[in-house]
Amino acid sequence: MKYYSTRDVSKKSYDSAVVIKQGLAADGGLFIPEAIPTLTRENIEDLCAMSYPERAAKILSMYLTDYTYDELLADCKEAYSEDSFRGGAAPLCKVTDKLYSLELWHGPTAAFKDMALQIMPRLLSKALVKTGEDNTALILVATSGDTGKAALEGYKDIDRIKIMVFYPVDGVSKVQKLQMATQTGNNVNVYAIRGNFDDAQTGVKKIFADKDAAKKLLDNSYILSSANSINWGRLVPQIVYYVSAYCDMLNAKEISFGETVNVCVPTGNFGNIFAAYLAKLMGLPLAKLICASNENNVLTEFLRTGTYDRNRKFHTTMSPSMDILISSNLERLLCFAAGEEKTAGYMSELSSKGAYTVDNDTRSAINETFIGYCADETATAATVKKFYNEYGYLADTHTSVALNCAEQYLKESGDDKKIIVASTASPYKFAADVYRSITDTAADSDTDALAQLSELTNTEIAYPLRNLTERKVNFSEVIDPSEMLDVVYKFM
Ligand SMILES: *Cc1c(COP(=O)(O)O)cnc(C)c1O
Repeated sequence: MKYYSTRDVSKKSYDSAVVIKQGLAADGGLFIPEAIPTLTRENIEDLCAMSYPERAAKILSMYLTDYTYDELLADCKEAYSEDSFRGGAAPLCKVTDKLYSLELWHGPTAAFKDMALQIMPRLLSKALVKTGEDNTALILVATSGDTGKAALEGYKDIDRIKIMVFYPVDGVSKVQKLQMATQTGNNVNVYAIRGNFDDAQTGVKKIFADKDAAKKLLDNSYILSSANSINWGRLVPQIVYYVSAYCDMLNAKEISFGETVNVCVPTGNFGNIFAAYLAKLMGLPLAKLICASNENNVLTEFLRTGTYDRNRKFHTTMSPSMDILISSNLERLLCFAAGEEKTAGYMSELSSKGAYTVDNDTRSAINETFIGYCADETATAATVKKFYNEYGYLADTHTSVALNCAEQYLKESGDDKKIIVASTASPYKFAADVYRSITDTAADSDTDALAQLSELTNTEIAYPLRNLTERKVNFSEVIDPSEMLDVVYKFM
């Protein structure tokens, strides 16, 4: 299986190990596969009988052909072990007749980013060997909160890899900030940025595109790599849990073979929902993909009008991991729907004017599968409360955005297929907002909220978040986006 850039008309192709090492294509585009492997009925039946690590190795081996199945299986067994994912890698929880919550947050940082970032470092480590790389890989991460911590946990103390994380100083929750500030490991560094997530992401992208910086880094035996969802190595592991959820529904006799289901995903950078799309293209019986946004509803508008316009107010919400106005992975969908030439054009309009409008063919191709809904802060809080009070289901704020959108879809569309709702964070990761949503009163503090929510709901605090305030703070520096390259040099 070969890969090429979303902006390259000549489709110059690369191996999977190179793509994972490099992260972003040299022309600024994202890597996509030349062809989509097929999941046959027989494949799906086989997968039903497998454990999660086996399912993962099977799907990964269809895309990452530079790796042997046995290599992948060994990595998957470590990445998705009971030790890393207490409570199962991706358990499916039936919430109502129609809604199934796919819980992706039982890993070491209590958010769904763990699903990819527990395996990615292992893939990168092998990619360095496979490509004969002698230099150290320096991972730069821009995070809206969850990726940063998950990447730090995934990459800490890994040989010949260093990792540096940038997060928006006021754009993450207190718990997220503490999780990152207390990170340990001899190859890690963390900075807060004065600005929002897009400033952090733009800063990282600039460094990746800076040829002088690349040379200076290489002179010092470093190459840059990315752990953001623009890296293909992060997307493939995310396909697995949709296939796995379908198998679990079959095994539990919630659906019959071939029955189509819809999927609803709380969306920011469009990585998670794009992975669902790949699963559908492979042949998994998925029908509609419902893209759920918070008040930063740039994607809802795009899916409804064909115009993507980032020139709008940026809202800081209680689902901060979705506070994004430039949704990077949408570029991959554009390329599938419109081809490389048009995609390069749209991306250049996005960078010069902050907006673009796709042509009608592209729009209708996208709308065959994707539909956009959004939930504002009031609706999100009401959904947290409703699902707890009516169904006894405790959902975090991001998941609640998706639950709200899934209900809107059920009501408006008349389509009564079952919906798999991606549940992307433990309710304890956003305990203060969850507590306030249920009780209509504020917790004593953001960190006290964990114990208060536990007492209120009689559930246990997610294990990665226990005793957070007692840990030592190792990183507290705040910088301007213009200083990012300097601190990279300093770290090197
Ligand atoms: C990252 C994240 C999202 C958004 O996922 P994308 O793949 O960026 O669309 C949603 N919820 C949570 C909790 C996240 O951490």
